[in-house]
This record gives sequence, C-alpha cells and structure tokens, in this order.
Amino acid sequence: MSDTGTSEQDVASPVPGLATGARHAWRTFSLTWKTSPGLTLLIGALTLFVALLPALALYLSKLVIDGVVTAMGSASPADRDLALLWVTAEAAALAVLLAARRILVFYKTRLHAELGFAVTSIILRKSAALSLAQVEDAAVQQQLLLARQYAASRPYNLVNRLFDGAQQALTLVSVAALLWGFSPWLFVLVVAGGLPLFIGNLRFAGTAYRFYTGRSPQMRERSYLESLVTTEAAARERLHFGFGDELLRRYGDLFKSLHGDDTALHARQAWIAAGLGVLSSAVFLGGKVWIVWVTIGGAISLGQMTMLVGLLKQGQTNVSSLMAAFNGVVEDLLYVANLFAVMELPEEDRTSGATAGPDPADGLRFENVSFSYPGRKRPALDRVSFHLPHGARLGIVGANGSGKTTLVKLVTGLYTPDSGRVMLDGLDLRQWQRAALSRRLGVMFQPFMNYKLSARDNIAAGLALAETDEARIMAAARLGLAEELIGELPAGLDTRLSRHLIDGHDLSGGQWQRLAMARAYLNDEADILILDEPTAAMDPAAEAEFMQRALNGKSVILISHRLSNLRDADQIIVLDKGKLVEAGTHDALMALGGLYARLFDSQADPYREG
Ligand code: ADP
Repeated sequence: MSDTGTSEQDVASPVPGLATGARHAWRTFSLTWKTSPGLTLLIGALTLFVALLPALALYLSKLVIDGVVTAMGSASPADRDLALLWVTAEAAALAVLLAARRILVFYKTRLHAELGFAVTSIILRKSAALSLAQVEDAAVQQQLLLARQYAASRPYNLVNRLFDGAQQALTLVSVAALLWGFSPWLFVLVVAGGLPLFIGNLRFAGTAYRFYTGRSPQMRERSYLESLVTTEAAARERLHFGFGDELLRRYGDLFKSLHGDDTALHARQAWIAAGLGVLSSAVFLGGKVWIVWVTIGGAISLGQMTMLVGLLKQGQTNVSSLMAAFNGVVEDLLYVANLFAVMELPEEDRTSGATAGPDPADGLRFENVSFSYPGRKRPALDRVSFHLPHGARLGIVGANGSGKTTLVKLVTGLYTPDSGRVMLDGLDLRQWQRAALSRRLGVMFQPFMNYKLSARDNIAAGLALAETDEARIMAAARLGLAEELIGELPAGLDTRLSRHLIDGHDLSGGQWQRLAMARAYLNDEADILILDEPTAAMDPAAEAEFMQRALNGKSVILISHRLSNLRDADQIIVLDKGKLVEAGTHDALMALGGLYARLFDSQADPYREG
C-alpha cells in the first residue's frame, strides 16, 4: 500500500488558478458542444428564457396589485379589465416559466447521458492506446480510475452548473436592474447579503476533492477488504483459515477512521455555512423591514412594495444558488482537470514503423539488454545477450523473480530496454510496426487471461478478436490440445465460459491453459512461438504430446520449470537475479556442473517440481 499511496496522493491537485479554471471550463464546454451542438444550443436558449422570466413575473405582480388598488377606488370597468389583464399575464408568465423549467430538465437529462457516454468513450479509447509501462504506472492507474469513476457525472455537472450559474446571474442582473430603478441602496443590499456566502464558499472550495482523492488509498483498501469477504475467489482460503472476522474488524476500523474525518469536515463546513447563511438572511430581512417601513410612510405603492419584497427574496435565492453553482464548479474543475490530464497522456504509436527487417535469416537477438522497473534498484534484466536463429528452440530457466517474464515483455516489444537492443531480422524492435511485430510472434503469457467470453472468443483473441473462420479456430484448438475439451462443452465453441451466466460453463485451470495455448497458436503466420510456462497446469501425458507438436519448424522460446522439457532445446539460457549466468545445450550445461546441473539433478524425479 505504501509506495502506491504516495503517487495516489500526488494526483490530488491544488485548486486551479482562474486562468486554468477558465481554460478547463471552456474545454469542457467545447467537448459538450462537439458531443451535441443541438442540445447545447437548445439548453442555452431555454436557460436564457428561464432566467429572464422571474423578474418579468415580479414586475407583472406589481402591475396587478396597483391595478387592483386603482380598480377598487374607481368605478370604471376599464380599470377592472386592466387589473384582470395583468393578473392573466402574470399567471401566463408563471405557467410558461414552469413549463420551460420542465423542458429544460428533460433536455439536460439527455445531455447528461450523451456527454457521459462521450467522455467514457474518450477514456476507454485512451486506456486502450496506452503502453504497458503506462498501464503499470500506479499514478496513471489512479488517474484513470478517478476519470472513469466520475466520467458520467463531473463534466456534465460542470456544464450544468455553468448554465445554472449563467441563469442565476442573468436573473440576478434583471432583479438588480429593477431594484436599482427604485433605490440603488437595495441593489447594494443584495450584493452585501450575498457576500458572506461567497466568502464561505471560497473558504471551502476544493476541500471535498482533496479529502476524497487524498484518501483514495484507504478507500481502495476498503473495497479490497470488501472483495475478500464477498468474492468466491477468496472464499476457500477465508473459510478454511477462518480470517473472515478479522477482515470485518479491519473493515470496521477503516470505515471509522475514514468516516470520522468525513464527519468532522462536514460538521465544520455545515456550522460555518449556517452562520454565514443567518448573516446573509439578516441583511435581506433588514431590507424587507425598511421597504415595509417606507410603504407605511406612503412613499411607495402596495404594488411596488410587493414587487420589491419579491425582488429581494428572488435576489437572495439567486445569490445563494449562484454560490452553490460556483462552489460546485470549483469541485468539478478539479475532476475535469484530471480528465484532461488523462486525455493528454502520450499514446503509443502502433501504426508507423517497418514491417520487415533487412536480414530475414537473422532471427531474434538480445544485445546487452538491461531493463529496470520504475522505482526498483536492481535491474530485472542486466546486460542480457543471446541469439535465436530461425527455427531454433531456446529454453529459459531461472528461479522465480529471475527475469523470465520480463524477458517475454521485451521480446514482444511491450517494454523497451533501458539500454541495449532487441533485434528481429536485423532491425531494432523499436523500429518495427506494432502490428507487424504481433503477426510474427505467437505468445502465451504468464499469467494468461481467462476471458469470461465464449470459447471461440478465448481463441479468437489471439488475432485481435477478429478471426471468424471456424476451421482456423479449430486448428488452433487442436494445436493447443483444446479440441476435446471444446467438443465436451454444451454449446461447443459458442459456450460462454462463466459460471455466473445462465448458460455459462466454467473450466479447470489446466483447461483454461489449453485455451490460452490455442490462442497463442491461432496466429499461424507467427514464426516465433513464445511460451511462458505453458505446461504448468497440464498433466505429464498432455505435456509430452504438446512438446512434440510444439516444434513445427518454428522458432520457440520456452520458459519452463520442468527442465526435462528443455532437453532437446538447441540452446538453454539460465537467468539468475536478472543476469544470464549460463548458456549452452543441455549436455554442455550438465557438463559445466553449475546452477543448471544442480537444478536438473534436484528434479531427477519428474514429479518433483522446481
Ligand atoms: P520471473 O518471470 O523469472 O519470475 P519476473 O520477470 O516476473 O521474473 O520478475 C523479475 C523481477 O522484476 C522480480 O524481482 C520482480 O519482483 C520484478 N518485477 C516484475 N514485474 C514487476 C512490475 N510490474 N513492477 C515492478 N517490479 C516488477
């Protein structure tokens, strides 16, 4: 937890400056516009309309009351009709306002869905385009997680609050204009009444974001503990070893410490907000008392009084809504900034590069290759050199952690060496086009994936999930020794391999491994096969059969703990703590009497694993 914790906290960015905030807001807005120009325009127009109606309605209410007072003191039907006309107009304005608000909500809901989908697609496309090193970077993982978690909500919230803020501001301006017409003092009053709320909101801007992103390591720990208690993968050990209660206790502690901090923060915020709210209300109430006072004194009409009191109330509502929108915008901007940081992550170039090397007979070469994982002192591979000519078989031996899997990642070009070169057909892998390189290599990774898709998809994944030719898929299944297993599945290749689906079916470890091998074999153009412990979950009979089939005139890189598998290899290299310590044929290495010979002797009994 500790080393990922540091980088996770780095993601919690400070509240952005005005210029950055404005840039991000503008960018989110353009994203919205690009997603749906029609909806954006419609919402903009409706917002404007809804913004100006309250002041109009209040002005009409003044006309109504003054009209009623006049009509009461006059015998003329014209005065009565006029009062009735105003009250009808006011009712109409309020009805239109109500309807427009509903329609606005409807369009905003649509925009929410569309923008959520657009942003999620952007994040997924970006994730798919990242390199393995980026994907394995804890800071990038945290950025992606945060972006994905809030993909549907934050960018929309931001745009919604900007519209909302604009609406409140416009209403406020129209209200202020009417107030100013009566007395500039009342206008000042609205501003003064809003000030405490503004200060309060500035004070807390960004705290929730910092709180939650700062605590994301604990939150992840919490959901990990949850998964240990609920998932079936963890159930066997949890039940047998009986650590369920201890997990619950740790879960409770974590929850208390998180929640305790949470409550303290919210309580402080609530108290300050309540105090400032009372202060602001006091200012507005003072204004109201003053208006009533001058009305009694006869300085203004009853209609004016009603309008002014209404305007003050409206102004107060607008000010606090505006503040809420502002506060929300600052929070949203922090999340949106993270989204843009994700969008700006550099992408791996997979389309340019060479599709063939200058010396097709040369095969694969490691030249003094070193590679270190970020943050690790000892290199995972340290100046490793070897040559695998076409059609040859290379065995790789080494204890756990000696660098075998890292070597596979370098051969497949998923990592690039820190120093030295990996060459294929006389050309540095860095200069190969990603797709061309993939066509040349059939790989079974360790650990491999068990896709909860159909058996067909599990094999077709070996060629971009795009292979549909049944004969080709079955040929790969045959090579991977998965033919019989597929024959036994209830719906053959189309069986969904998940126990959690009604017509699904689960496989054993060894069966999954056969599908992974079939996947590696599907790309029959590949002339180099890389198999990282392909036989670990297989019984010895299956293994012997597989080893005979593995040849087929292709180059093979075979990583195996069962050294007897490697006897026929043209060359065996032995890795120890990232260094190549021995190389040669089985006989030569046995004669050398070094690490290989010792490992081999210890496995003389074929059922004793290394
Ligand atoms: P092997 O396949 O021989 O068991 P690996 O190539 O997986 O060995 O690992 C070599 C070394 O690199 C080990 O010390 C391991 O802890 C380290 N290592 C492997 N993968 C990572 C990773 N993603 N991040 C950091 N260190 C890693």
